[in-house]
Amino acid sequence: MKTITNRFFTLASGLLLAAGAGSALAQRDYSNVEVVPHHVAGNYYYLEGAGGNIGVSIGDDGVIMIDDQFAPLTDKILAAIRSLDDGPIRFVINTHVHPDHVGGNENLGRMGLLILARDEVRVRLESQLPEVALPVMTYSESITIHLNDDEVTTIPVPPAHTDGDSYIYFRNADVIHAGDVFRTVAFPVIDQGNGGTLDGTIDGLALLIGMAGPNTMIVPGHGVPSSREDVMEFRDMVLDVKARVQALVAQGMSFEQVMAARPTAQYEAKWGDPERFLTAVYSELSGN
Ligand SMILES: [Zn+2]
Repeated sequence: MKTITNRFFTLASGLLLAAGAGSALAQRDYSNVEVVPHHVAGNYYYLEGAGGNIGVSIGDDGVIMIDDQFAPLTDKILAAIRSLDDGPIRFVINTHVHPDHVGGNENLGRMGLLILARDEVRVRLESQLPEVALPVMTYSESITIHLNDDEVTTIPVPPAHTDGDSYIYFRNADVIHAGDVFRTVAFPVIDQGNGGTLDGTIDGLALLIGMAGPNTMIVPGHGVPSSREDVMEFRDMVLDVKARVQALVAQGMSFEQVMAARPTAQYEAKWGDPERFLTAVYSELSGN
């Protein structure tokens, strides 16, 4: 992975400088990326482009935006938002620290938009991004924004995908923007380097299930809007894989032996390559 990253970085570094992009990961060619809005419920939409899904709530009071993908996509993202609503963008909320979710912060910060995130997100971004790209307002507990006849609540999640994850709940639209704790296209990503944990992932998914009602739409960081039942299935899979790996670790198995035992076999058709997930699960359960 590192090799590929470095190779692309070399190829694209000229472009990067030209674009003034703050993120070293904003290195691919985005010229063919289309940013497509999808309506979910009420006045909530999400934008699909490259990187994490962007949440957009529109209305008379203006726009609330969740995450901002990569810097080279900012113009396309703003155009997609303008196709929905031409009011002011009042808040930008970062669900967590990853570059495919905060890569547009610098551009949006320069426009004077107010960026919000958990304390942990700002602390981690301080060493990676210029001051103008950092969240201006940070929180450690839930806060609620009252706009567009809705209550928009940011909810801190236990250390799951990272240690700075938030869910954003739109009460009237009945939508939860879940960020990367929940995804429909892959096994969970537990970024231990940024404070993510297996047990926090399990607790975070339980929190999400508890918040959701039978008709709530749950928008993942990557993938498509889903139901509470879909999150339950994902959570049950994580619990099952944890139990299986725990039994293998109790037998003294190495990581290679655990991989060979294929504890995720029945889930791979749906969620793909398990290696990264199993690496994190094994490391947390074995202490290695
Ligand atoms: Zn992420």
